[in-house]
Amino acid sequence: MRTIIRNGRVALEGRLDASDVLLEGGRIAAIGQNLGGADRTVDAAGCYVLPGFIDFHTHVGDRIGDFELADDYESGTRIGITNGITTLCTFVTQGSDGSPETLRQALRRARTRAEGRCHSDVAWHLTPTTFEPDDWRDLESLIQAGYRTLKFYTTYKSAGLFTDQARLEELFRRLGPTGARFLVHCEDDDLMAAVDISSMDLSRASNHTRLRPEAAEVRTVAALINLAARCGVPLHVVHVSAVPTAQQIGEARNHQDLTSETCPQYLWLDESWLDRADGHRWICSPPLRDGRGPFRELARAGVFDLIATDHCAFCCTDKDDWDGKDIRTVANGLGGLGALAHLAWKLWGDDPDHAAQELALRLALNPAARLGMSHRKGALRPGLDADVVVLDPNGSERPIRSSLADTFETYPGFTSTLAFRHVFLRGESVVEEGQLMHAERPLGLALQGPA
Ligand SMILES: [Zn+2]
Repeated sequence: MRTIIRNGRVALEGRLDASDVLLEGGRIAAIGQNLGGADRTVDAAGCYVLPGFIDFHTHVGDRIGDFELADDYESGTRIGITNGITTLCTFVTQGSDGSPETLRQALRRARTRAEGRCHSDVAWHLTPTTFEPDDWRDLESLIQAGYRTLKFYTTYKSAGLFTDQARLEELFRRLGPTGARFLVHCEDDDLMAAVDISSMDLSRASNHTRLRPEAAEVRTVAALINLAARCGVPLHVVHVSAVPTAQQIGEARNHQDLTSETCPQYLWLDESWLDRADGHRWICSPPLRDGRGPFRELARAGVFDLIATDHCAFCCTDKDDWDGKDIRTVANGLGGLGALAHLAWKLWGDDPDHAAQELALRLALNPAARLGMSHRKGALRPGLDADVVVLDPNGSERPIRSSLADTFETYPGFTSTLAFRHVFLRGESVVEEGQLMHAERPLGLALQGPA
């Protein structure tokens, strides 16, 4: 099957070009003019032709604390692919279902849940939580097998996810040389534990921002940047929410292998959402903060290598199932998968050509590189997987929808004119005019090998 995409503006690395794109055998076969005949021709007039997007940070098909996530692999990849996300990265957390298990067992559980149910390709980041000698051996062999991105938390002690600095240093020193890359959730647990709550009304959602102050992020990011530099390992800071952190990363990334992401909620939502009567529905960590104008300016200037969602949606009943007295009992997280492309575009939307190139960079090229998958994903380049988005910036205006599950919409009132005319997954047309084509035949694959 030969498919040619004609008449679009094609995002090549660093420029837009009026080329044709030939897809064949699941790969991008050629980019240029006069590419010969085809079984199918797609007219992309008025559209941008972009590499398929990669959401580097999502939570689906798992339990977090007391609650099952609202999106499983099927619904998460469904809302993703219909909004241009051809690779979904999510997490395997050792012990997340509440019983003791090895990391490899947790990975097998995730793979079983995902198998045959994914509408996009899937890759996993791993979170080990025990460190006996067998665990280290397990971890080293999983890294060798292609699971190179490890995620750690500097908070969530009660959930058993906390990793202290000494352990992080041990991980960096032992696993860095084996090709591991480190993703870290940076909020200083001690600093947050020291927040004076004696006069705080904990039933008010806006106090979530006081409980998890900006300084907690700033302190941990500084410490981790130093530690990663001393150990000489690649560090990726997830979900940056604060201006000083972004500035700090912007400086340090000139000297070391340091990347970071922010998420649509930190670009477009502020504390006023927490002030609403139903403000608990916007509780996520790090929390929403004020001062978004300067934060967006840093994002527009390119300080964040990636924009990812940290999609972590809970069902309406679970999100509302808290004691009404202490916001720390609210299920912690927001949906966002379906919003990613629309809200990333909005950052540069006054200049559509620029926006298209920024999406190609921050939603495809850079996340593929961080994942260690540049040889397969992330660009329109002959030989790579034919994951292609034909994006019309001038579609009819419609509301943004973050998730298809029974969740509260994270971005009510936000609209977009972006229309996904076509999405190709490894050369197969899986979305046409925003509609999923193979709902009963999910074509997504696990990108990493068997556990
Ligand atoms: Zn997360």
